[in-house]
Amino acid sequence: MDGENMGYRIGLDLGSTAIKMALVRDGDLVWSRQTPTAPGQAGLARDLVSAALDELGLAEGDIAGVAATGYGKRLVGTAGRLVDEISANARGLFALSRGRCRTIINIGGQDLKVIRLTEDGLVDEFRMNDKCAAGTGRFFEQAARILDTPLESFARLSLAADQPLELNSTCVVFAESEMVSLLAKGVRRENIIRGLHHSVAKRVGHLLGHGLVSGEIYLDGGPAQNQGLLSALEDELMLEVKKLPQPQFTVAFGAAIQP
Ligand code: ADP
Repeated sequence: MDGENMGYRIGLDLGSTAIKMALVRDGDLVWSRQTPTAPGQAGLARDLVSAALDELGLAEGDIAGVAATGYGKRLVGTAGRLVDEISANARGLFALSRGRCRTIINIGGQDLKVIRLTEDGLVDEFRMNDKCAAGTGRFFEQAARILDTPLESFARLSLAADQPLELNSTCVVFAESEMVSLLAKGVRRENIIRGLHHSVAKRVGHLLGHGLVSGEIYLDGGPAQNQGLLSALEDELMLEVKKLPQPQFTVAFGAAIQP
């Protein structure tokens, strides 16, 4: 039977920064939650499962399958199946976009991935940068600390920039000192944050390269919650970039529905 029509199924995405869980019923996302990654990941994943069962009034026997994905997937002993992140992401976004997605830009806590899909939703091409923190969620987290500004405000502030600037540093360590000196010179946070978004968008553009983009493009992963990043990407690529309402859960969703 197809994975999308098998009652309740759970997908656990054990990422570098957050553990995400999706509970799917007959192909629909019915419950999702995330918790920060910390030691004892199996226990944290179990707590998410218990919370979902409690809140939905379900018993363990009601769950037809549990699948784990993400870099910590092997830490969850109870998961019936292990799914690789790329397949989970492809399957999840293809299903949630109703078959329209052809390119995925996934930004996680510690990596940046580009996945190109065939018309049937299979992985056609895959590129990744996991060697350097620039262009990843970690870059935004460090910027949030330096600028003493919550990540949740980045979208609003970047869209309020009046004199966007270019960050010259291509490395996170140098970008940190660049941000500190810009602040010291009195440059507005709004303009620094917009510059930050553009530097990440440039990295994505390099990874995407030429000729890779055809069909609908979606941004997912935690940083996709930031509308300012989406706008910067659209400016950089000169293409429309879409996102789903809960972009941080597509990988967990895809693991859940993997047959
Ligand atoms: P991973 O799968 O590697 O754990 P995620 O896809 O969960 O990573 O993304 C984590 C990143 O998402 C964080 O490093 C942070 O930059 C970003 N992030 C998390 N919450 C928000 C938010 N509310 N707004 C913008 N960015 C966010």
